[in-house]
Amino acid sequence: MCTAAATCERRIEGGGTTSLAWQGWPGWAGLPTIGADELVPPGARAVIVAPHPDDEILACGGLLQLLAAQGSDLLLVAVTDGDASHAGSPLWPQERLRRVRPQESAQALETLGLAPPAWLRLRLPDGGVAGMAPHLATLLAERLQPGDRVFTTWRLDGHPDHEACGWACASACSASGATLVEMPVWGWHWAVPGDMCVPWHRARRLPLPASVLQRKRAALHCFASQMQGDPSTGQPPIVAGDALQRLLHAWEVYFL
Ligand SMILES: [Zn+2]
Repeated sequence: MCTAAATCERRIEGGGTTSLAWQGWPGWAGLPTIGADELVPPGARAVIVAPHPDDEILACGGLLQLLAAQGSDLLLVAVTDGDASHAGSPLWPQERLRRVRPQESAQALETLGLAPPAWLRLRLPDGGVAGMAPHLATLLAERLQPGDRVFTTWRLDGHPDHEACGWACASACSASGATLVEMPVWGWHWAVPGDMCVPWHRARRLPLPASVLQRKRAALHCFASQMQGDPSTGQPPIVAGDALQRLLHAWEVYFL
């Protein structure tokens, strides 16, 4: 564990930092931009490791489109089926979530305009990835090859499953000669602009053309289970408002 992991408080509660606050941060101008062809050079394979169905679109729905356009090989790894998102809900029992959430992901990828990618579903327990990180690292290392570019959630993202995927991928990459790229998702919630806990020196901005951003926005609407409230429990949507808008800026951020 690095010192930042020990000292940075990463609470996902309340509304978090607003999209507007992030949009207005002058620090963006100081972050270098990067192209999809630099993130995944010609001939390299992109491996996207998503803790839950939807993280692949929230974090890198723009990059996925640019990779498809440049003809990159793609392997999508679904770590969990996301069946713990609606605790105690009569409307969304776990077996329904296990069935519906992967379907939502498939529809979202189709909306992005992607051909069905190679897809590995690991079916690890949603909410329990941290306890299985060494196992996950082994499963991934068996499938990675030198030269792969592995994209996953940031090791300090704030959600235990997201952080565990970051650590497991870091370990699998060093064992296999693949290269790790981390992506903040919930980090935008707890961090603030210029936050000392964010590794800005490793951050690169991928600008998204308007049409790419528009398809990413449309794809996110496929996740009805996450973006609609639950009348059976009275719970609000899981991803809506700022949680959604923070990931719909005209760029995506990658930590090299
Ligand atoms: Zn997630």
